[in-house]
Amino acid sequence: MKVGVLALQGAAGLHLSALRSVGAAAIAVRRPDELADVDGLILPGGESTTISMMLDANGLVEPLAERLAGGLAVLGTCAGLLLLAAQVTDGRDDQRCFGTLDISARRNAYGPQTESFEAPLPVAALGPEPMTGIFIRSPIVERTGPGVEVLARLDGRPVLCRQGAAWGCTFHPELSGDLRLHRLFCEEGL
Ligand code: GLN
Repeated sequence: MKVGVLALQGAAGLHLSALRSVGAAAIAVRRPDELADVDGLILPGGESTTISMMLDANGLVEPLAERLAGGLAVLGTCAGLLLLAAQVTDGRDDQRCFGTLDISARRNAYGPQTESFEAPLPVAALGPEPMTGIFIRSPIVERTGPGVEVLARLDGRPVLCRQGAAWGCTFHPELSGDLRLHRLFCEEGL
């Protein structure tokens, strides 16, 4: 299975190494032909408004929309979750959200970079040991539709969710050195 990591802006490198560590063939995706070649995709954290502009500039909006509509296995982390959301509050008017996950998310909802934090996150699907959630200018998921399964919460709010082939988390799983979420995505998602 070949898994792409969108590498236009943001934290692609550690996702690529995490995917390789769990046995996936991982490639950076910057062009439509690279996107066409993958069985799954990670949309990394970074800056969703910039990633959105870069998708436009690189001719990736339509190809990505088509692959997502076709049921591509996708994991959006932080800014990537915003790209997958149905609605984004406090975003830019022109920023893309593909509506793959039936969620509404508020951008930068915990405050600025200085309000970044770590928190233990129990995730039943990953076993008894909690994950370390690293939240960097993260969004808050304010609404989940009926088709969305919530896999982890922090203070009652969804921080990891899944709707069919689409997964989203508001934290940075690639920064904690814990490979379990990447492994689960590869094993169950692809
Ligand atoms: N605040 C960023 C955005 O709006 C997301 C931050 C992140 O991905 N760590 O896209």
